[in-house]
Amino acid sequence: MSDVAFAVDLGGTNVRGAIVTRDGEIQHYRTARTAVRGGVYAIIDQIVGLAEDAFDEHGERPETGVGVVAPGPLEPKAGIVRFAPNLPGWENVPLKRLLEERLNIPVVLGNDGNCAALGESMFGAGRNVDNLIYLALGTGLGAGIIHQGQLIEGIAGLGGEVGHISVDGNGPRCTCGAVGCMEAYIGGWAIARHGELAAHSERSAMIREIAGEGRITAEVVADAALEGDRAAIDIFARGGRALAVGIGGLVNVFNPELIVIGGGLARAGDLIMEPFRSSLPNYCMLPAYQHVAIVPSALETNTGLYGAAANVFYQQPNEQTGM
Ligand code: ADP
Ligand code: MG
Ligand code: ZN
Repeated sequence: MSDVAFAVDLGGTNVRGAIVTRDGEIQHYRTARTAVRGGVYAIIDQIVGLAEDAFDEHGERPETGVGVVAPGPLEPKAGIVRFAPNLPGWENVPLKRLLEERLNIPVVLGNDGNCAALGESMFGAGRNVDNLIYLALGTGLGAGIIHQGQLIEGIAGLGGEVGHISVDGNGPRCTCGAVGCMEAYIGGWAIARHGELAAHSERSAMIREIAGEGRITAEVVADAALEGDRAAIDIFARGGRALAVGIGGLVNVFNPELIVIGGGLARAGDLIMEPFRSSLPNYCMLPAYQHVAIVPSALETNTGLYGAAANVFYQQPNEQTGM
């Protein structure tokens, strides 16, 4: 029996599935526009369809396991999706049980940030690195922490929620209900929100001009910043510094070797990374700072699939290699 996992990525607007080998090769890739209107069972049918199709082409079933990555809060051990922002109607869905009943293969469910951290450490920028922090600068601020080879999950799988570390007790309100979270400065939604405030308070004519009749997004704010707009540059600089405050604390706690940065907002590049890198030494101790390298994600659009597969292999280490 070959040592492969079937990976499923439920983030985004498409369901994606593929067989992934322990060496990190993606095979028999399948995708379909997520049947969000059909409700829970329509999407379960889609996953099973993609899987059976890929198994047929592969010639055998991936007995090692099926890994599923989903965004939003979930209970990894019980395999329950509590809520998924991109899947309307999904509330407390026992996804692990439902898929195991249909596929007869063990299913492991994982949160996107935590799985991506495992994916980077197994297949990506953090190969052979046992201590890393993964950050997904996206619509929100996703993350995962690997410490001494172990994923930080906590009692209920909620560990590693780095984006909701508060960095200012008097800061802006976050979508999670708390105050001053890093995400409320450097999530894509927050950059857009701060851009709107700057545009409406007349601090930035450029943001308004670039947006035109359209929505003010993080891309619009980035474009304004690249044109030299002061307010837009400051929004990203404040975001980069907020990130440094929170990550500086984690650098002290975990003494990581690597910080891996992914996500769409990371395309803003130095608008975020320059203030982040230059202010990080202000928020952690020098010896810990000296050990840490900051690198881009190596998995990009396949982060979800690699993460789902890495979660399967992480739960079932290979006896020969221990990996
Ligand atoms: P999600 O977190 O929803 O899975 P992504 O990782 O793709 O999504 O990130 C989406 C976020 O990245 C959005 O807020 C979007 O506005 C922002 N974004 C995408 N491209 C750029 C860019 N070139 N510059 C700045 N922000 C960008
Ligand atoms: Mg995310
Ligand atoms: Zn929050």
